[in-house]
Amino acid sequence: MRIGSDLDSCILDTATIILEKLGKPGKRLYNSISRYNIEESLNIPMNIVEKVIEYVLNLEDIPYLLDVEKYLPRVYSLCEEFSIITLRKTKMLRIIHQYIKNILGDGNEFRIYLCNRYNNGNPNKVDIVKKLDLDIFIEDRFSTAVDVAENTSCKVFLFDQPWNRRDHHGLTRVYSWQDIYNKLIEMGN
Ligand SMILES: [Mg+2]
Repeated sequence: MRIGSDLDSCILDTATIILEKLGKPGKRLYNSISRYNIEESLNIPMNIVEKVIEYVLNLEDIPYLLDVEKYLPRVYSLCEEFSIITLRKTKMLRIIHQYIKNILGDGNEFRIYLCNRYNNGNPNKVDIVKKLDLDIFIEDRFSTAVDVAENTSCKVFLFDQPWNRRDHHGLTRVYSWQDIYNKLIEMGN
């Protein structure tokens, strides 16, 4: 099985740290973020949000989401190939690599692919998913998940987050890495 995953808000708890650095910590606020673009849900100017996001993305100690450390290695054990597909910039490759290596340990190979944007600014993950011929792709951004589901033959797991709580028949909603692991096991039987 070839599996690919987004990084931020699928593996790393990036949004929690962005809210903390914006001076807006707390689970209740997190759960009220109904749009992927955080500035549309908070009353904070876009330029400040952008600066904070840039700062956070350079951090090397963003915590992992709930059960990533326990279950990502188990998911990895089911993979022929595991890839990270992210919109992050080239200068962050080392940091991304370290985040994943810290979980998987030495000697467990994985790839990192940095995607481009479409003309409208949205990430183009379709081309990479097709190139890698992925079986499963994990993503929290609704529009990207739908794009991949509609334009590739890959099965898309939408990683549940407050900003993606809409339905789409092509997506399978997943709630944790334990849930992902269980679904993969079910699919294999
Ligand atoms: Mg993400």
